[in-house]
Amino acid sequence: MRIGILGGGQLGRMLAMAAHRLGLTPVIYAPGPGCASAATDQSRLHAWDDLAALDAFAESVDVCTFEVEHVPLEVVERVAARVAFHPNPSALIPTRDRLLEKRLLNNAGIPTAPYVDLADEEAARTLGDVVGFPALVKLRTGGYDGKGMAKVESAEQAVQAMRDLDAPCIAEGWVPWRRELSIVAARGGDGTIAFYAPAENTHVEGILRHSRVPAPHLSEADRLLLEAHTRRLVEQMDYVGVIAIEWFETEGGFVANEIAPRVHNSGHWTQDGAHCSQFENHIRAVASLPLGDTGSTGPSAMVNIIGQVPPLASVLALPRVAPHLYGKTARPGRKIGHVNLTADTDEALEALLAQTRAIVEAVTE
Ligand code: AMP
Repeated sequence: MRIGILGGGQLGRMLAMAAHRLGLTPVIYAPGPGCASAATDQSRLHAWDDLAALDAFAESVDVCTFEVEHVPLEVVERVAARVAFHPNPSALIPTRDRLLEKRLLNNAGIPTAPYVDLADEEAARTLGDVVGFPALVKLRTGGYDGKGMAKVESAEQAVQAMRDLDAPCIAEGWVPWRRELSIVAARGGDGTIAFYAPAENTHVEGILRHSRVPAPHLSEADRLLLEAHTRRLVEQMDYVGVIAIEWFETEGGFVANEIAPRVHNSGHWTQDGAHCSQFENHIRAVASLPLGDTGSTGPSAMVNIIGQVPPLASVLALPRVAPHLYGKTARPGRKIGHVNLTADTDEALEALLAQTRAIVEAVTE
């Protein structure tokens, strides 16, 4: 079976590697060579608007998916009109737009930060009445890793942020969170849903630095609540594939921040800490194969490698570490790999996480 993957970054690379393991053939479509096309000899490297190349790609695969939601929607829709496509493009639309995303979450009974559609500057002048200050002005589409947003303390600053961002925006109230969590789930073509253990995520300047699983001190009741919210959402979206939801944990409960309709950085630990990884489960779901076991093998963590690769020998000298390097050119602020850690006890994981972070963060740029 030939699995088409739109997009050429590290998520596409790890999906391709998971497909290879199952004896399936990944076919990457991307505008140029990159770390995903390096993982398969079946790449189609053409511009997103090369319609003839796109159609030929669609005809050459049995089923198709995308690695990230920023692939142009017209591309997804064109390919989906020609070959089976998961997740369905209509599920993709609201996750690309923070306003539609908030409405989707609220319609599924999932709490979010209070928000306002900044349709015009008048809306920005009055946003304090609805969401209070501080507030975050965010691009409706295209922002990622903390980019495309500004924290504002007044209506004047909000108007200025809108002008600076210079594209449709929303404003969100500031959520006084204690920590950030995420849940990654897989839904098969037959409607089966499987959840990975929720991760606790630590970001610096909007970029994920490390994840820890299981999220410390998360009660069974809270885990079940996150699963129930996620189940309602994916059923409402008729979603097939892997999906992640990012959450803020607050004094008063959980508030959803964002939906990622794809494999997620906070689920990379599953490559080494779960029976079946998020990448393999996405491929299984897309290929209408039975889902694999999402259970954890024990405590796990993931440390992102950002900006510069640490000395490999120092990382490999640690016990039970699994580096995953993407083959990308090093650049400050760029995710170029991650290290997965596994341990038998929470204490052993804590110690290993501290050692790994010290090595990785010494060169983080
Ligand atoms: P995002 O790109 O929306 O995931 O935001 C990047 C980071 O900014 C999040 O991981 C949070 O740390 C922080 N953040 C985003 N929205 C809010 C909010 N409404 N209240 C507090 N912190 C937020």
